[in-house]
Amino acid sequence: MTPIIVNGAAGRMGRRILTLAAEQPQAYTIVAGVDRQPGSLRDLGIACDAPLRTSIPDESGAVVIDFSHHGIFPSVVRHCLAKGMPLASGTTGVPPAVVDSELIAAAQRIPCLHAGNMSVGVNVLLDVAARLAKALGEDYDIEITEAHHNQKIDAPSGTAFSLADAICAATGRSRSDHVHGRQGQTGARRKGEIGIHALRMGDVVGDHTVWYVGGGERIQLGHVAHSRDIFARGALRAAAFLAKARPGRYVMKDVLGL
Ligand code: NAD
Repeated sequence: MTPIIVNGAAGRMGRRILTLAAEQPQAYTIVAGVDRQPGSLRDLGIACDAPLRTSIPDESGAVVIDFSHHGIFPSVVRHCLAKGMPLASGTTGVPPAVVDSELIAAAQRIPCLHAGNMSVGVNVLLDVAARLAKALGEDYDIEITEAHHNQKIDAPSGTAFSLADAICAATGRSRSDHVHGRQGQTGARRKGEIGIHALRMGDVVGDHTVWYVGGGERIQLGHVAHSRDIFARGALRAAAFLAKARPGRYVMKDVLGL
Protein backbone atom coordinates (compact mmCIF):
# COMPACT_ATOMS: atom_id res chain seq x y z
CA MET A 1 0.00 0.00 0.00
CA THR A 2 1.56 3.30 -1.09
CA PRO A 3 0.36 6.55 0.56
CA ILE A 4 0.40 9.43 -1.96
CA ILE A 5 -0.06 13.21 -2.02
CA VAL A 6 -0.62 14.74 -5.48
CA ASN A 7 0.63 18.30 -6.02
CA GLY A 8 -1.23 19.93 -8.92
CA ALA A 9 -4.28 17.83 -8.02
CA ALA A 10 -6.80 19.94 -9.93
CA GLY A 11 -4.82 19.85 -13.18
CA ARG A 12 -5.33 17.47 -16.11
CA MET A 13 -2.62 15.11 -14.93
CA GLY A 14 -3.36 15.46 -11.21
CA ARG A 15 -7.00 14.47 -11.68
CA ARG A 16 -6.11 11.40 -13.76
CA ILE A 17 -3.47 10.25 -11.25
CA LEU A 18 -5.94 10.62 -8.38
CA THR A 19 -8.75 8.92 -10.32
CA LEU A 20 -6.57 5.93 -11.18
CA ALA A 21 -5.26 5.74 -7.59
CA ALA A 22 -8.81 5.84 -6.20
CA GLU A 23 -9.66 2.88 -8.46
CA GLN A 24 -6.86 0.84 -6.81
CA PRO A 25 -7.48 1.16 -3.05
CA GLN A 26 -5.55 -2.06 -2.45
CA ALA A 27 -2.40 -0.42 -3.88
CA TYR A 28 -2.65 3.33 -3.08
CA THR A 29 -3.93 5.43 -0.18
CA ILE A 30 -4.67 9.02 -1.15
CA VAL A 31 -3.59 11.25 1.75
CA ALA A 32 -4.43 14.57 0.06
CA GLY A 33 -4.42 16.55 -3.13
CA VAL A 34 -2.70 19.95 -3.27
CA ASP A 35 -3.57 22.85 -5.56
CA ARG A 36 -4.21 26.58 -5.46
CA GLN A 37 -7.81 26.36 -4.15
CA PRO A 38 -8.77 24.33 -1.04
CA GLY A 39 -11.70 21.91 -0.95
CA SER A 40 -12.20 18.19 -1.24
CA LEU A 41 -11.21 15.73 -3.94
CA ARG A 42 -14.91 14.98 -4.44
CA ASP A 43 -15.24 18.57 -5.72
CA LEU A 44 -12.88 17.49 -8.52
CA GLY A 45 -15.03 14.44 -9.31
CA ILE A 46 -12.64 11.98 -7.64
CA ALA A 47 -14.21 9.12 -5.67
CA CYS A 48 -12.24 9.73 -2.47
CA ASP A 49 -12.86 11.59 0.80
CA ALA A 50 -9.34 13.02 1.12
CA PRO A 51 -8.94 16.81 1.33
CA LEU A 52 -7.69 19.25 -1.30
CA ARG A 53 -5.17 21.51 0.42
CA THR A 54 -3.17 24.57 -0.59
CA SER A 55 0.13 23.31 0.80
CA ILE A 56 1.75 19.88 1.00
CA PRO A 57 0.81 18.31 4.37
CA ASP A 58 3.58 16.82 6.52
CA GLU A 59 2.97 13.10 6.26
CA SER A 60 6.13 11.15 6.84
CA GLY A 61 6.28 8.17 4.48
CA ALA A 62 3.78 9.52 1.94
CA VAL A 63 5.15 9.93 -1.60
CA VAL A 64 4.60 13.35 -3.17
CA ILE A 65 3.65 13.08 -6.86
CA ASP A 66 4.21 16.49 -8.46
CA PHE A 67 2.59 17.53 -11.76
CA SER A 68 2.20 21.27 -11.16
CA HIS A 69 4.26 24.23 -12.36
CA HIS A 70 7.97 24.45 -13.11
CA GLY A 71 8.37 27.62 -11.02
CA ILE A 72 7.67 25.83 -7.74
CA PHE A 73 9.88 22.80 -8.35
CA PRO A 74 12.66 23.96 -5.93
CA SER A 75 10.18 24.64 -3.12
CA VAL A 76 8.48 21.25 -3.63
CA VAL A 77 11.83 19.44 -3.48
CA ARG A 78 12.93 21.36 -0.39
CA HIS A 79 9.64 20.66 1.39
CA CYS A 80 9.98 16.92 0.69
CA LEU A 81 13.58 17.00 1.86
CA ALA A 82 12.71 18.83 5.09
CA LYS A 83 9.85 16.42 5.88
CA GLY A 84 11.55 13.22 4.71
CA MET A 85 8.95 12.50 2.00
CA PRO A 86 9.88 10.71 -1.25
CA LEU A 87 9.22 12.75 -4.42
CA ALA A 88 8.21 11.73 -7.97
CA SER A 89 8.02 14.84 -10.16
CA GLY A 90 6.81 14.86 -13.75
CA THR A 91 6.60 18.64 -14.03
CA THR A 92 8.27 19.80 -17.25
CA GLY A 93 9.92 23.09 -18.12
CA VAL A 94 12.31 23.01 -15.13
CA PRO A 95 15.81 23.93 -16.38
CA PRO A 96 18.00 20.78 -16.30
CA ALA A 97 20.57 22.56 -14.11
CA VAL A 98 17.87 23.30 -11.53
CA VAL A 99 16.62 19.69 -11.59
CA ASP A 100 20.19 18.50 -11.06
CA SER A 101 21.13 20.87 -8.25
CA GLU A 102 17.90 20.32 -6.30
CA LEU A 103 17.83 16.54 -6.67
CA ILE A 104 21.53 16.02 -5.96
CA ALA A 105 20.99 17.76 -2.60
CA ALA A 106 17.70 15.97 -1.86
CA ALA A 107 19.03 12.52 -2.80
CA GLN A 108 21.24 12.55 0.30
CA ARG A 109 18.14 12.05 2.45
CA ILE A 110 15.10 11.07 0.36
CA PRO A 111 14.33 8.86 -2.65
CA CYS A 112 13.57 11.25 -5.53
CA LEU A 113 12.96 11.13 -9.27
CA HIS A 114 12.20 13.62 -12.03
CA ALA A 115 11.09 12.42 -15.47
CA GLY A 116 9.81 14.53 -18.35
CA ASN A 117 7.92 11.52 -19.66
CA MET A 118 6.63 8.93 -17.21
CA SER A 119 5.01 6.61 -19.74
CA VAL A 120 6.17 3.04 -19.22
CA GLY A 121 6.09 2.42 -22.99
CA VAL A 122 8.13 5.52 -23.83
CA ASN A 123 10.76 4.68 -21.23
CA VAL A 124 11.12 1.16 -22.61
CA LEU A 125 11.32 2.70 -26.12
CA LEU A 126 14.17 4.99 -24.98
CA ASP A 127 16.12 1.98 -23.80
CA VAL A 128 15.44 -0.13 -26.90
CA ALA A 129 16.06 2.77 -29.33
CA ALA A 130 19.49 3.42 -27.83
CA ARG A 131 20.50 -0.25 -27.88
CA LEU A 132 19.31 -0.66 -31.46
CA ALA A 133 21.31 2.37 -32.62
CA LYS A 134 24.44 0.96 -30.99
CA ALA A 135 23.93 -2.50 -32.46
CA LEU A 136 23.26 -1.26 -36.00
CA GLY A 137 26.33 0.98 -36.11
CA GLU A 138 27.18 4.12 -38.02
CA ASP A 139 26.12 2.89 -41.47
CA TYR A 140 22.46 3.28 -40.53
CA ASP A 141 20.95 6.77 -40.85
CA ILE A 142 18.77 7.65 -37.86
CA GLU A 143 15.86 10.07 -38.06
CA ILE A 144 13.14 10.83 -35.51
CA THR A 145 9.64 11.99 -36.38
CA GLU A 146 7.06 13.13 -33.85
CA ALA A 147 3.42 14.21 -34.25
CA HIS A 148 1.25 16.12 -31.79
CA HIS A 149 -2.04 18.05 -31.74
CA ASN A 150 -2.28 21.51 -33.26
CA GLN A 151 -2.35 23.30 -29.86
CA LYS A 152 1.12 22.20 -28.74
CA ILE A 153 3.26 25.30 -28.29
CA ASP A 154 6.77 23.84 -28.44
CA ALA A 155 8.70 21.71 -30.93
CA PRO A 156 10.20 19.22 -31.08
CA SER A 157 8.67 17.38 -28.14
CA GLY A 158 10.67 16.70 -25.00
CA THR A 159 10.32 13.00 -25.77
CA ALA A 160 11.90 13.45 -29.23
CA PHE A 161 14.83 15.19 -27.52
CA SER A 162 15.05 12.34 -24.99
CA LEU A 163 15.13 9.77 -27.80
CA ALA A 164 17.87 11.67 -29.62
CA ASP A 165 19.83 12.14 -26.37
CA ALA A 166 19.55 8.44 -25.47
CA ILE A 167 20.83 7.47 -28.94
CA CYS A 168 23.65 10.02 -28.67
CA ALA A 169 24.70 8.67 -25.28
CA ALA A 170 24.76 5.09 -26.59
CA THR A 171 26.69 5.90 -29.77
CA GLY A 172 29.16 8.61 -28.73
CA ARG A 173 27.29 11.46 -30.40
CA SER A 174 26.23 14.79 -28.86
CA ARG A 175 23.51 17.42 -29.29
CA SER A 176 25.63 19.02 -32.01
CA ASP A 177 24.62 16.00 -34.14
CA HIS A 178 20.91 16.86 -33.86
CA VAL A 179 19.49 18.39 -37.06
CA HIS A 180 16.05 20.01 -36.72
CA GLY A 181 14.06 19.89 -39.95
CA ARG A 182 15.73 20.47 -43.29
CA GLN A 183 15.15 23.20 -45.84
CA GLY A 184 16.95 24.72 -48.81
CA GLN A 185 20.41 23.79 -50.06
CA THR A 186 21.27 21.43 -47.24
CA GLY A 187 23.86 19.40 -49.10
CA ALA A 188 24.06 15.65 -48.71
CA ARG A 189 23.19 14.12 -45.36
CA ARG A 190 26.19 14.04 -43.02
CA LYS A 191 26.96 10.61 -41.60
CA GLY A 192 26.12 10.46 -37.91
CA GLU A 193 23.58 13.26 -37.80
CA ILE A 194 20.17 12.61 -36.25
CA GLY A 195 17.30 14.37 -38.02
CA ILE A 196 14.37 15.43 -35.82
CA HIS A 197 11.06 16.46 -37.41
CA ALA A 198 7.83 17.74 -35.84
CA LEU A 199 4.33 17.34 -37.32
CA ARG A 200 1.43 19.36 -35.84
CA MET A 201 -2.08 18.25 -36.73
CA GLY A 202 -5.56 17.76 -35.35
CA ASP A 203 -5.94 16.04 -32.00
CA VAL A 204 -2.94 13.70 -32.08
CA VAL A 205 -2.04 12.87 -28.44
CA GLY A 206 1.60 12.01 -29.23
CA ASP A 207 3.35 9.82 -31.82
CA HIS A 208 7.09 9.12 -31.96
CA THR A 209 8.96 7.06 -34.55
CA VAL A 210 12.66 6.36 -34.78
CA TRP A 211 13.83 5.40 -38.26
CA TYR A 212 16.99 3.37 -38.85
CA VAL A 213 17.77 3.11 -42.55
CA GLY A 214 20.75 1.22 -43.92
CA GLY A 215 21.59 0.19 -47.49
CA GLY A 216 18.69 -2.01 -48.53
CA GLU A 217 16.65 -2.14 -45.30
CA ARG A 218 14.80 -0.09 -42.75
CA ILE A 219 13.66 -0.54 -39.14
CA GLN A 220 11.01 1.72 -37.60
CA LEU A 221 10.44 1.81 -33.84
CA GLY A 222 7.20 3.54 -32.98
CA HIS A 223 5.16 4.63 -29.98
CA VAL A 224 1.62 6.00 -30.15
CA ALA A 225 -0.02 7.54 -27.08
CA HIS A 226 -3.78 7.00 -26.98
CA SER A 227 -4.38 8.92 -23.76
CA ARG A 228 -2.64 10.85 -20.99
CA ASP A 229 -3.32 7.93 -18.64
CA ILE A 230 -0.01 6.40 -19.73
CA PHE A 231 1.79 9.20 -17.84
CA ALA A 232 -0.47 8.84 -14.81
CA ARG A 233 0.11 5.07 -14.62
CA GLY A 234 3.88 5.59 -14.88
CA ALA A 235 3.75 8.20 -12.10
CA LEU A 236 1.88 5.82 -9.80
CA ARG A 237 4.36 3.05 -10.59
CA ALA A 238 7.23 5.44 -9.77
CA ALA A 239 5.55 6.36 -6.46
CA ALA A 240 5.21 2.68 -5.47
CA PHE A 241 8.89 2.16 -6.30
CA LEU A 242 10.08 5.24 -4.35
CA ALA A 243 8.02 4.32 -1.27
CA LYS A 244 10.29 1.28 -0.81
CA ALA A 245 13.56 2.78 -2.10
CA ARG A 246 16.56 3.98 -0.14
CA PRO A 247 17.47 7.68 -0.35
CA GLY A 248 18.92 8.49 -3.77
CA ARG A 249 18.17 9.98 -7.15
CA TYR A 250 16.36 7.58 -9.47
CA VAL A 251 15.26 7.56 -13.12
CA MET A 252 12.40 5.70 -14.80
CA LYS A 253 14.82 2.98 -15.88
CA ASP A 254 15.28 2.11 -12.20
CA VAL A 255 11.52 2.00 -11.67
CA LEU A 256 11.12 -0.36 -14.64
CA GLY A 257 14.17 -2.48 -13.79
CA LEU A 258 15.80 -1.83 -17.18
P1 NAD B 1 -2.43 21.72 -15.78
O1 NAD B 1 -2.17 23.15 -16.06
O2 NAD B 1 -3.71 21.11 -16.23
O3 NAD B 1 -2.30 21.45 -14.20
C1 NAD B 1 -1.34 22.03 -13.37
C2 NAD B 1 -1.96 22.20 -11.99
O4 NAD B 1 -0.96 22.67 -11.09
C3 NAD B 1 -3.09 23.23 -11.99
O5 NAD B 1 -4.26 22.70 -11.39
C4 NAD B 1 -2.52 24.37 -11.17
O6 NAD B 1 -3.50 25.10 -10.43
C5 NAD B 1 -1.56 23.62 -10.26
N1 NAD B 1 -0.58 24.50 -9.63
C6 NAD B 1 0.08 25.54 -10.20
N2 NAD B 1 0.84 26.15 -9.26
C7 NAD B 1 0.64 25.47 -8.12
C8 NAD B 1 1.13 25.63 -6.79
N3 NAD B 1 1.98 26.64 -6.47
N4 NAD B 1 0.76 24.75 -5.84
C9 NAD B 1 -0.10 23.74 -6.15
N5 NAD B 1 -0.63 23.56 -7.39
C10 NAD B 1 -0.25 24.42 -8.34
O7 NAD B 1 -1.20 20.94 -16.40
P2 NAD B 1 -1.05 19.37 -16.69
O8 NAD B 1 -1.37 19.08 -18.10
O9 NAD B 1 -1.73 18.60 -15.60
O10 NAD B 1 0.54 19.21 -16.56
C11 NAD B 1 1.19 19.52 -15.35
C12 NAD B 1 2.69 19.40 -15.56
O11 NAD B 1 3.02 18.04 -15.89
C13 NAD B 1 3.23 20.22 -16.74
O12 NAD B 1 4.53 20.66 -16.42
C14 NAD B 1 3.26 19.21 -17.88
O13 NAD B 1 4.13 19.56 -18.92
C15 NAD B 1 3.72 18.00 -17.13
N6 NAD B 1 3.45 16.70 -17.77
C16 NAD B 1 4.39 15.75 -17.58
C17 NAD B 1 4.19 14.47 -18.07
C18 NAD B 1 5.20 13.41 -17.77
O14 NAD B 1 5.04 12.25 -18.17
N7 NAD B 1 6.28 13.75 -17.04
C19 NAD B 1 3.03 14.16 -18.80
C20 NAD B 1 2.07 15.17 -18.98
C21 NAD B 1 2.29 16.45 -18.44
